[in-house]
Amino acid sequence: MAGSMMYMPLTIGSMIDHAGRYHSDGRVVSVETTGGLDRSTWGEVARNSRKLASALGKLGVAQGDRCGTIAWNNRRHLEIYFGVAGGGMICHTMNPRLTPEQMIYIVTDAQDKVLFLDKTFLPFAAKLGEHFKSVEHYVLMGPRDEEAAEMVPGLIFYDELLATGDDDYDWPELDENQPANLCYTSGTTGHPKGVQYTHRSTVLHSLAGNQPDGINIAARDTVMPVVPMFHVNAWGVPYIAAAVGCKLVLPGPGLDGESLVKLIDGERVTLALGVPTIWMGLLQALEKTGSKAESLQRTVVGGSALPPSMIPILRDRYGVDLVHAWGMTETSPLGTLNQLLQKHVDLPPEEQERIRLGQGRPPFGVELRIVDAQGNRLPEDGETQGALQIRGHWIIDGYFGKETSDLTEDGWFDTGDVATIDPDGYMVIRDRTKDIIKSGGEWISTVELENIAIAHPGIANAAAIAARHPKWDERPVVIAVRAEGENPTEADILAFYDGKVAKWQVPDKVIFVDDLPLGATGKVQKVKLREEYADVLIDQGA
Ligand code: AMP
Repeated sequence: MAGSMMYMPLTIGSMIDHAGRYHSDGRVVSVETTGGLDRSTWGEVARNSRKLASALGKLGVAQGDRCGTIAWNNRRHLEIYFGVAGGGMICHTMNPRLTPEQMIYIVTDAQDKVLFLDKTFLPFAAKLGEHFKSVEHYVLMGPRDEEAAEMVPGLIFYDELLATGDDDYDWPELDENQPANLCYTSGTTGHPKGVQYTHRSTVLHSLAGNQPDGINIAARDTVMPVVPMFHVNAWGVPYIAAAVGCKLVLPGPGLDGESLVKLIDGERVTLALGVPTIWMGLLQALEKTGSKAESLQRTVVGGSALPPSMIPILRDRYGVDLVHAWGMTETSPLGTLNQLLQKHVDLPPEEQERIRLGQGRPPFGVELRIVDAQGNRLPEDGETQGALQIRGHWIIDGYFGKETSDLTEDGWFDTGDVATIDPDGYMVIRDRTKDIIKSGGEWISTVELENIAIAHPGIANAAAIAARHPKWDERPVVIAVRAEGENPTEADILAFYDGKVAKWQVPDKVIFVDDLPLGATGKVQKVKLREEYADVLIDQGA
């Protein structure tokens, strides 16, 4: 409008352009799927992204077409993120831990035209290719490889494809509300559902998520996203990294503690991000190797509940500040991040830790509320629990392929989590709506019961579930894995709950197992546990 400000669409291409122009010698270090380190720069990644978009165009891939990836965190995957979206196509990242049936469902639902694969995942294409009816081109993310060529007829090699792209290619003009990327929720029941992000939602998520009270990455940082690029866009870190031009370290396929320690020390990583299981592995590896992870200043941990011991261990032994975050595929994912307010600065460390164990506060751009079963807003007093709902610039409206909205009538997305919110906006996840235990009409938080069990030195991992009960409707049962070399009894664990929760909340039973069933994103599959143990109390004559 005349007499006002210029309008420029918020696009993903503009983010990598910034990195290429203002941080062209900023480093991108990547562990190759076939071993070894690939050392590149933002300048090169920006050039390659454009060449990739150009090459895909020559291959007949058009704007709006979906390009799937089944790949680790590496440099080529980064170029695909920017090249595909920058060129107006849609980058659809896939979780390789899904079952073949889910994979076929997802590729078919997304109608992927191209599938980019790391060598690790080439067997998927060889085995499932006949079911991937929409896929016209398979691209191996690497140089020419004769062994691979024999596995998949017509296989294209990424490095050769790139060479066919034009150096002077310009991004097409895009509408910021055009879709840019697509992720599927792992879905514990029913088919996975697609969440399609727009250029605008992705850019705003990156800017707002990286505020000082959020992820807070600066150009001086060296950032290692251990969270996979196939899980909600690695929490947006690749986009944030391009927008600020930090050094980026992509860990490739080796996500075990020792490989990560080597990268942290070797590349002087200052900030790393991942799910709690990753940090458990990392902590063990630090103990074993004797590394003090001296360069590491901060970690962002989210995706599932944080074991309470993690904050003090990282702080006291390694001088690392842990930022707890919450989000979901439907929320891009950043919904809350936990940093302290000015009034907390002088509190003793234990008090600060208590606040920081929660999931944190929403950054500008998203809002939270809790409601009862009828949808009435509940008080935000830090105690009242309710269904957590969210709205904002990077929150889903409706799932991919559906014409209708998935929001409440007044425009909020129901997260399926049960939470409390305090007057400062600090949110604490108490449970999943479908996991919470309803005993005699009262709610018992499975998260709380699990945290107590895991804090017992004889327990490596635990899940609390609702088991059917003739009198109370449901009662808590804990399924636990013993720590190596430890042999706690059921009575030991039950006694450990004394004084930590109200008497009626103490589990009725502890069952020891060798392993807990984990889903594709590393979360415990409570549905499976409930299938197996829902009737244990009835069977034993409760
Ligand atoms: P996904 O879409 O696979 O990322 O799963 C999202 C769900 O993971 C959320 O609805 C929560 O139930 C859970 N989740 C994510 N982050 C946290 C966290 N920091 N603490 C507890 N649960 C979490």
